[in-house]
Amino acid sequence: MMKFADLIEENVEELAALDAINGGKLFSHCKAMDIPGAARNLRYYAGAADKIHGTVLKLSKGFQGYTLREPIGVVGSIIPWNFPTIMFFMKAGPALAAGCTMVVKPAEQTPLSALYYAHLAKLAGLPDGVLNVVNGFGETAGAAISSHMDIDKVTFTGSTEVGRKIMTAAAASNLKPVSLELGGKSPLLIFEDADIDQAVNIAFNAIFYNKGEICVASSRVYVQEGIYEIFVKKLVEKANAWVIGDPFDLRVNQGPQTDKKQFEKILSYIEHGKREGATLLTGGKRLGGKGFYIEPTIFTDVKVNSLENNYAIEEDMTIAKEEIFGPVMSLMKFKTMEEAIKRANNTTYGLAAGVITKNLNVANTVSRSIRAGIIWLNCYTAFDVDCPYGGYKMSGFGREFGLDALNQYLQIKSIVTPIHDSPW
Ligand code: NAD
Repeated sequence: MMKFADLIEENVEELAALDAINGGKLFSHCKAMDIPGAARNLRYYAGAADKIHGTVLKLSKGFQGYTLREPIGVVGSIIPWNFPTIMFFMKAGPALAAGCTMVVKPAEQTPLSALYYAHLAKLAGLPDGVLNVVNGFGETAGAAISSHMDIDKVTFTGSTEVGRKIMTAAAASNLKPVSLELGGKSPLLIFEDADIDQAVNIAFNAIFYNKGEICVASSRVYVQEGIYEIFVKKLVEKANAWVIGDPFDLRVNQGPQTDKKQFEKILSYIEHGKREGATLLTGGKRLGGKGFYIEPTIFTDVKVNSLENNYAIEEDMTIAKEEIFGPVMSLMKFKTMEEAIKRANNTTYGLAAGVITKNLNVANTVSRSIRAGIIWLNCYTAFDVDCPYGGYKMSGFGREFGLDALNQYLQIKSIVTPIHDSPW
């Protein structure tokens, strides 16, 4: 695994180019973050590989015992197209360290870097058959993995709809355990005491990073009423300075959406927002006539349909409820912390959330009250291989990253023996 990490670093330019060509991701981001992140991930879990051990059990009635943590077996990994490299290693790092073998099925939109990783794995000396890459479509290759009798576990990242199908197929075949990392509709709460310029930067990148194709994207931004007007003004200035274009151009902030299907899906959500009466603050259409480029789009007046004690408790519009997975922000105003917490939690998802405030009491209360797998305080999308994350509610279950991720790929076996002669 260490050698594998070295080889990834030696080939960083080629790997970054493959992800940029395949998915319209920024070459500079892939080179600076995604590809080095893969190497760091492998090293982190390689360091854990010889520290996986069980416990000694103090049993009663003249027995003693211990547990072994054994590899779960053959892992099927079905991954999406938005972060082809990070998703690959987020699952391969802990699975390999746990001693599992793997069949990885990359998304059909982004098959290239995974093939390169299979090649590097071989050069690094991983034994044949340990890390296998099978490209193919979801309904064929993906479905074959989730229903296969010889696959012992499936780890999946992607849409809620497909997550459901995978769980059903696992249940109908060999009851293999499944872990699911699904979508989100993550809220970002900005309180009046925030540094406005910093808050604008965080909010902007939290949704427009990777052209909004990120499961933790903060697509619902709640701003406290006292700073709402100035916040909106600065947000528009930021949008106007945002550069869209060729993902290999180092001046560019946002490349094209991954494919035609995703591009059209995002545009249809934007039309929904307009039809339902939200105000388009900026963006709202395709950029130019060629390529899947979409302007950074911000809606305000995203209405609410219920009022309780004089504040809104439920978002009404489709754009504030459903995952768009594109560069579209819904901006909402709130009065009190209690209202913001209620509205933030009023979603079927629970992947991530953000809070921007200098008030420690507010920070503590909000971060403990929001039902989501990761809360970023005064930052957003601050990922680290050492920090577990995963879903609450319909955002899935199981944790990726951190030492906790190893548990997804291990079984506990108990071994029990009498201390002296067996009483039986
Ligand atoms: P998807 O869930 O269809 O695809 C993800 C992976 O699942 C791919 O590898 C695909 O081939 C596979 N797959 C598809 N059908 C399958 C099946 N029946 N059995 C087994 N595997 C199957 O995602 P998509 O269609 O590419 O994107 C649709 C939406 O999903 C997006 O608009 C977005 O909302 C969401 N999404 C979320 C994430 C995330 O990181 N949580 C990533 C990508 C997409």
